[in-house]
Amino acid sequence: MVLSLGADLFGVASIESFDDAPMGHRPTDILSKAKSVIVVGMKMLDAQADILPTNGNYFAISPRQDMYRGHYTFISQELDRIGYTVARFLEKKGFKAYHQMASTGGTDQRYLMGLLSLKHMAVQAGLGVLGHNSLLITPQYGPRVRLTAILTDAQMPPDTPLSKNFCRDCEKMCISMCPANALKKPIDETPYTIDKFVCHQYLNTRPACAVCLKVCPVGSHRIR
Ligand code: SF4
Ligand code: SF4
Repeated sequence: MVLSLGADLFGVASIESFDDAPMGHRPTDILSKAKSVIVVGMKMLDAQADILPTNGNYFAISPRQDMYRGHYTFISQELDRIGYTVARFLEKKGFKAYHQMASTGGTDQRYLMGLLSLKHMAVQAGLGVLGHNSLLITPQYGPRVRLTAILTDAQMPPDTPLSKNFCRDCEKMCISMCPANALKKPIDETPYTIDKFVCHQYLNTRPACAVCLKVCPVGSHRIR
């Protein structure tokens, strides 16, 4: 059903897979009787990401960043339409369903941390893994995806998380080309090291950045 609505990726995470998540950030903190988390992904158009500038002065590059942001917003709205449709379908069947929207997240501005993390839910649902750029990396489309999720008390068979490491043999251009120096090479087993406040401050002064998304080479379906 979900893919027929226009989504590209779809997976289910069991509620138990969030047992180690921080208190206050578990799906059951939002929907207390949740049993499953449905995660839906939609791919951004490659040409729309490829227009992102990786350097240059602000006035020269901001129109392209603005064009990218328009597409990003559009994909989020499409995902929200799909997420609502799925949640409403479940509700009509007698289940509870909470829709975590793609367009707005419920972020605690003190820590720049959402109450629910779409990318972490996507990892548990088997859609991809976290990369050094702090984004979800999918085998099919790399980081060029947007996400939405539905928490529900319907019991659904879960998918298996992936065990790939896309970053190990990569040149790590996401780190070296980050214009704000917000990304660092992780020194331990953590998938990424990012100063979220530095990234956030940089984004506050321009329409978009996403250099770390554009330069990531992963995505077997990329058409050049
Ligand atoms: S550019 Fe390389 S290191 Fe960075 S997220 Fe993509 S695969 Fe990982
Ligand atoms: S969005 Fe830009 S500033 Fe933020 S981590 Fe990615 S490349 Fe760096």
